[in-house]
Amino acid sequence: MSPPLLQVNDLKKHFPVKTGLFGRKSEWVYAVDGVSFEVARGETLSLVGESGCGKSTVGRAILRLFDITAGQVILDGQRIDDAHPSTMRQMRRRVQVVFQDPFSSLNPRMRVRDILAEPIRNFGLAKSASDLETRVTALMDTVRLPREALNRRPHEFSGGQRQRIGIARALAAEPELIVCDEAVSALDVSVKAQIVNLLQDLQNEFGLALLFISHDLAIVEHMTHRVAVMYLGKIVEVAPRREIFAAPKHPYTKALLSAVPLPEPGAQRNPIILKGDVPSPINPPRGCRFHTRCPLVFDRCRTEEPVLRAAGSEQWVACHLDALPQG
Ligand code: SF4
Repeated sequence: MSPPLLQVNDLKKHFPVKTGLFGRKSEWVYAVDGVSFEVARGETLSLVGESGCGKSTVGRAILRLFDITAGQVILDGQRIDDAHPSTMRQMRRRVQVVFQDPFSSLNPRMRVRDILAEPIRNFGLAKSASDLETRVTALMDTVRLPREALNRRPHEFSGGQRQRIGIARALAAEPELIVCDEAVSALDVSVKAQIVNLLQDLQNEFGLALLFISHDLAIVEHMTHRVAVMYLGKIVEVAPRREIFAAPKHPYTKALLSAVPLPEPGAQRNPIILKGDVPSPINPPRGCRFHTRCPLVFDRCRTEEPVLRAAGSEQWVACHLDALPQG
């Protein structure tokens, strides 16, 4: 079996915050607190959870937009969390990103032609000026935008078209992994579906791996291979798409999925309403972090932190409930 393209081992990212009079007292936000997972070549892994659960911080750590607190990020067998800048340059080419808001991530003063040419030039991928031009026009074809639009600027496009430009810019670097950070969240329903279809087509065509970070489980259900569910800086369940949507094991996953609409008209899931709000990541609860909201909480949950354990051949769950491993 070939090794995974991406391995994340016990990743932690804690941010300092100043509190108190004159900001003297330092506390820590435990944004990501011991997260491990793998992404295979050509696979889509979706990282899901409510806003503030740490999923985007995981994505940014993989892109090395900041230094991590602890753990390892390994791309194709090579650590990138502490890589030397010269190694990091090649690594950056191999891992690209598509952000939620293409308008703020695309330079409004640049024409599309220059936006797409920039990564090709930066990574030295074009052999000549004509090769550069060929690559730029091919990218427009790939994301199904008209070539004539190369001379326009981002504000002249719709939201969906701008996201296509963002995807084309990511593809320009010839990556193996694309981190899609809420990449379709800001789009209308029909446009969302078009962009998701495009990402799937590109995955098939180029063998891309996708880390799809999203709070929208209805979209995830249609396009992912596996799902990792995060709550308050931890992964609480990982499973293939079919298993997690048909038979979620963790009480938090069950609550999240109960809010996802069923495709059949008129059909409804039984909604599970969680009490309270997500606790602060500055002072997360002891034991199971979900225990303050879990409808099945019992004494052990308040003191002992559950670890991920097998609950099926490919399903992993962090919960003390004894019934789980039967899965
Ligand atoms: Fe609920 Fe306890 Fe399982 Fe946490 S460990 S999800 S509190 S039952």
